[in-house]
Amino acid sequence: MIYPNEPIQLKSTYISLDSRQIYDPENTAFVAVRGINHDGHQYMETLYQKGVREFIVEKGSWVGQLPEKASQWTNTSIWVVDNSIKTLQNLAHLHRIAFNLPVVGITGSNGKTTCKEWLYTLTKNEFNVVRSPKSFNSQIGVPLSIWAIQSHHTLGIFEAGISKMNEMGQLEPIIHPEYGIFTHFGEAHSQHFETDKIKLTEKLKLFWHSKKLIYRASEETNEWIRLEMQKNNPTCELVTWSTTDPNQSIFVYWKINGTRSQLKFQKKNQSEVFLDLHVELCDEASLENITHCIIQAHVLGLDKAQIELACKAIRPISMRLEIKEGVRNNQLIDDSYNNDMDGLRLALPLFKRYEEKSKVLIISDFMETGQKEGDLYPTIVQLIKHHRIDHVIGIGSQLERNKHLFNQISTYSSTEDLIDSGDLNTVHDSVILLKGARKFSFEKIVNALETKTHCTQLEINLEAIENNLTYYKSTIGNDTKIMGMVKAHAYGAGAIEIAKVLQSQGIDYLTVAFTDEGVNLRKNGIYTPIMVMNPQIEEFEKIIEYALEPEIYSFSMLDAIDEYCFHHGKNIKIHIKLDTGMKRLGFEPEDIDQLTEKLGQMPHLWVVSVLSHLAASENPKHKEFTENQINQFKHAAKSISTELGHRPLWHIANSAAIQNYPESRLDMVRLGINLYGITGNLIEKKSLENALILKTYISQIKNVKKGESVGYGRLGQFKENGKIATLAIGYADGYNRALGNGVGSFEIQGVLCPTVGNICMDMCMVDVSNIPQVKEGDEAIAFGGKIQLSDLAKLAQTIPYEIMTNISERVKRVYVRE
Ligand SMILES: *Cc1c(COP(=O)(O)O)cnc(C)c1O
Repeated sequence: MIYPNEPIQLKSTYISLDSRQIYDPENTAFVAVRGINHDGHQYMETLYQKGVREFIVEKGSWVGQLPEKASQWTNTSIWVVDNSIKTLQNLAHLHRIAFNLPVVGITGSNGKTTCKEWLYTLTKNEFNVVRSPKSFNSQIGVPLSIWAIQSHHTLGIFEAGISKMNEMGQLEPIIHPEYGIFTHFGEAHSQHFETDKIKLTEKLKLFWHSKKLIYRASEETNEWIRLEMQKNNPTCELVTWSTTDPNQSIFVYWKINGTRSQLKFQKKNQSEVFLDLHVELCDEASLENITHCIIQAHVLGLDKAQIELACKAIRPISMRLEIKEGVRNNQLIDDSYNNDMDGLRLALPLFKRYEEKSKVLIISDFMETGQKEGDLYPTIVQLIKHHRIDHVIGIGSQLERNKHLFNQISTYSSTEDLIDSGDLNTVHDSVILLKGARKFSFEKIVNALETKTHCTQLEINLEAIENNLTYYKSTIGNDTKIMGMVKAHAYGAGAIEIAKVLQSQGIDYLTVAFTDEGVNLRKNGIYTPIMVMNPQIEEFEKIIEYALEPEIYSFSMLDAIDEYCFHHGKNIKIHIKLDTGMKRLGFEPEDIDQLTEKLGQMPHLWVVSVLSHLAASENPKHKEFTENQINQFKHAAKSISTELGHRPLWHIANSAAIQNYPESRLDMVRLGINLYGITGNLIEKKSLENALILKTYISQIKNVKKGESVGYGRLGQFKENGKIATLAIGYADGYNRALGNGVGSFEIQGVLCPTVGNICMDMCMVDVSNIPQVKEGDEAIAFGGKIQLSDLAKLAQTIPYEIMTNISERVKRVYVRE
């Protein structure tokens, strides 16, 4: 049946917007969304063949042959709506109001996911809790989270995040929280407060129908929150707390003691402390988060003993998923953050990125899922089947008991048994996903499988890269494509991993400098179109074999490729490079006529794009020059397109131009350095996330007396008695020698420690006299924490590009998701 528009009656238990993440097709409704780079409607036919029987589609995309084809599908319901995300939100709203369980809504600038997880830990013994998976807090994540509410749930905990104005208004009716937690409101600075106020008000909309709101009263924001709530929801009880102001509803006392802390809670105008407990947390941000959760648990009616007991299970939350190189050409995906079903469901699709490798899953018994063994394991088997895993290694007695359900499984009673068996040594050329409950100590398995190298590492946050890409997608809109520049090992970040991430995010194009870089990507499962900027004539065979697309910048190259294709009977896609002022590679304006004439006689060549490169888009001083480049390019591209009789993609913008010259975005932009969050633009600085951290560790600490010298050439001199730390990084790792003698600093325990003396080849020394607690083995951050890469580059009198690409091969790349 094809239904015009709503109301919608879904029979499916699950909803998915991602055609790749459907593991129970008969029971999943597919919501087709037209995204920035791909269109869910394209996958409907495949999904129908897989067994999906409920679809929500958009009118605008319900065109062409699709309606005709779909009218033949049997037992299928299709609703054609104006906007599928709006519809999803409406559905979630209706689902939400069908249940009257208490719901806690969490928002704020930081700490949402941590609060959600800890509140879950505190309440899960007394309630049957449904919560957002990981950090599903967006316009799409929230409705999907809400859809999971079922009748046996007795408490909901959901987080909401917004990136734009007016978004919270959409999320409020979906979550409709009775209780609210406002975790943290960035840093409110009085000079920015006018804009901060607007953001704050937007976030508060989540609580306009709440009965109680918990937040930490700070001098900057308290008054404003009170006024806003008074205006919009005057009956809401504000449960404010403070560690300094006894006039708030609850006075909280923290005492950090080594790795644990004591917390005491006292109500206003009452003399006795009503809660006095210990948690294994020791930093301010964590204490703030756990305080919210403890107060919320109290508000939900948990008594002292219940809260105290549950607090014992509170641990710092690591949502990190690490992708590491393993021994025997294995790739490890270390995701031991949680081993519940949602976690597994979210992690399994990562296998997709490694089609060329065997897939091995190592799991432990699933703890604390609240599901019966007889239900749980068949569901897991079903899920695994869908992802075509070659082998499962199961650890724990439950998995041993349920072994017969699995196709390919070896089971062990404990992690030690697995390691002692030596069976891990037979795993090679595989991608291995590890998900184990904490008590199974999967770190021992990671240890056994990980390659161990030099300990200085470049940490690359893949989620930050995805967020930065999403930022650009939404900035440039649907009509402009994105080309990801992954030349020079993706600026040193690792071409294969970065290309995989970009590919999985639906990037339109990738670009490398040389043919071999492109071949390497193809050999590692990259199927996205790849442009090669500097192809060589001898490489044409490889270029064609690996479906690479050369950039053609001269007549000799053009003639050579045409001749090659003619002789071998091949067709090829090419990109035409024009020089509009960079004076590097490309056809000059006066070449255009001859170029189009030649192209007209080269039927084997298909021009996919016409491009040029800006010489100074980052510098407003060269505005006129840059605008002239853009105009010249448009003019030339236009005449080429006219002569060709088709319109190839036009592109000229690099990262800096996207923001500085919106008129240069044209059909495609070429995104390079800004993917890593490195930008000189203030607007972008606010929206982009830093993706790179270069860190090393302290090898040794020495006391230095007044007058003693440090390092080669005795250039480091101590005027007072002090302490130095020797770090395991030097100029051979890419730490620029110009940063010696106090020019650069490292961040150790949050303190900036200037370099002392010259940087050596493999080591350098820093002044740690100001850190009494400093010890050998401590981490030292070269950039990515308090020290930004762009500032470090300035100090070294170079540019971030050079620092990044100079980080040597022996520095281990570690990929993380926070
Ligand atoms: C490297 C490169 C880019 C990307 O530059 P960023 O400044 O890193 O964005 C774009 N276009 C061409 C031709 C390049 O060589």
